[in-house]
Amino acid sequence: MTDLMHLDVQDDPGLAAEVDRLLAHRTRDIRLKGEVKRRFRARVWSQTAKIIRAWMIWVAVLDILTLALNMLVLPTAIARSMLLPGAIIPPAVIAVVLVWRKPSPSWLEGASLITGMFLILLSIALVGVAAGGEFYERQLNVMLFVAITAIIIFGIPLVWTVTIAALALGLYLVFQVQNPAIEHGSAIDGTLFFASGIFATVAARRIMTILAQKTFLFELRDRRRVAELARANDRLELLANTDPLTGIANRRWMTETLDHLWGTDKRCLNGAAMLMCDIDHFKKLNDQLGHAEGDRCLVEVANIIQENVRRDRDHVARYGGEEFLVLLPGVTDEEAVSVAERIRKSVEAAALPNPGSRVSRSVTLSIGVAVQTADEASSPEQLQGQADAALYLAKQTGRNRVLLHGAMDQVSRSS
Ligand code: GH3
Ligand code: MG
Ligand code: MG
Repeated sequence: MTDLMHLDVQDDPGLAAEVDRLLAHRTRDIRLKGEVKRRFRARVWSQTAKIIRAWMIWVAVLDILTLALNMLVLPTAIARSMLLPGAIIPPAVIAVVLVWRKPSPSWLEGASLITGMFLILLSIALVGVAAGGEFYERQLNVMLFVAITAIIIFGIPLVWTVTIAALALGLYLVFQVQNPAIEHGSAIDGTLFFASGIFATVAARRIMTILAQKTFLFELRDRRRVAELARANDRLELLANTDPLTGIANRRWMTETLDHLWGTDKRCLNGAAMLMCDIDHFKKLNDQLGHAEGDRCLVEVANIIQENVRRDRDHVARYGGEEFLVLLPGVTDEEAVSVAERIRKSVEAAALPNPGSRVSRSVTLSIGVAVQTADEASSPEQLQGQADAALYLAKQTGRNRVLLHGAMDQVSRSS
């Protein structure tokens, strides 16, 4: 799983509510449970595992180096006596490192770590017992030091930390009680002294863990808020670009799209066609059938236009009251006129009533077409001006027709 997947809370309202609830309370009261806990563990696992593996290897290397050094500097009998108990550490370390190479069930991770820690601490203590004399107590102190470093740096569940702390103190007490060099009272005294130190260490570890959990909760919440904001922005942008009546793009969107296409897509500069479509005598439809019927007609015409263009390449927008602008990238004059003619015929065939029209009993469309060619590069405004001029002529010469700018003689007249 990737880190991002652990952070995906936007689609889980229960999780989002739990994150808010946890963050609303005091930091020291943060207790992760359920899904949040699972995600936190998954999030920190690889870092925790890396630290545990590195610490384990560090302990094994120190163990081997110390045993080797002892062979050089200590009397041979003492150094030899340390070898057998000291040999417990490398296999214990290897076992823990193997388990912590990839995520395992929690019980296995906990059991391996706690058993491994116990064997390491036991080994350190036994080295002292075997060597005897001054080494006896010194090794017990080394053991506590080793345990404290583990408690501080292992970001593991608190129960595991407490178990490791208890094992270290237990071993210390058991071996000190058997230490021939000191009294029982002194052994208990020493244990209590170190217990207070270890207790403080565990408390510090707990605070570090809670702070890490809080950071994780903030991450979850920030991510959710960013996603919500992005969704709201998308929705606003959609609203800003959509014509509310017909549901197709509006003039604003078309203007931006034209600027964008002319700015980036150079293919547009060759063979881009604009179709300016205008419903004939639409005012009469409104006057005779009412504004609501006029609205319905606009929706129908918008749908018809959209059905007659290539959805993946062409663009349609409601440009004015009863005007629609169609952009066809990469077409020839003939193709552009053919699409326009198809639209015009489809509107005519739909037979939407317009009893007041002087052209027909039903709704008709006039379309002005302008196509940009390779030798005549023009801006979107110029092209649109040409389509407007062609539309104007189409209106002048009888309506319900398609007229291509620059070829005004190719007039297509409805039957
Ligand atoms: P022509 O054939 O020359 O284009 O005549 P026309 O009546 O279609 O053109 P004109 O510009 O005179 O009238 C356009 C009408 O469109 C006027 C306006 O009331 C109407 N209109 C504009 N927007 C809407 C709308 O959203 N809904 C309705 N129902 N009518 C609208
Ligand atoms: Mg008009
Ligand atoms: Mg009109």
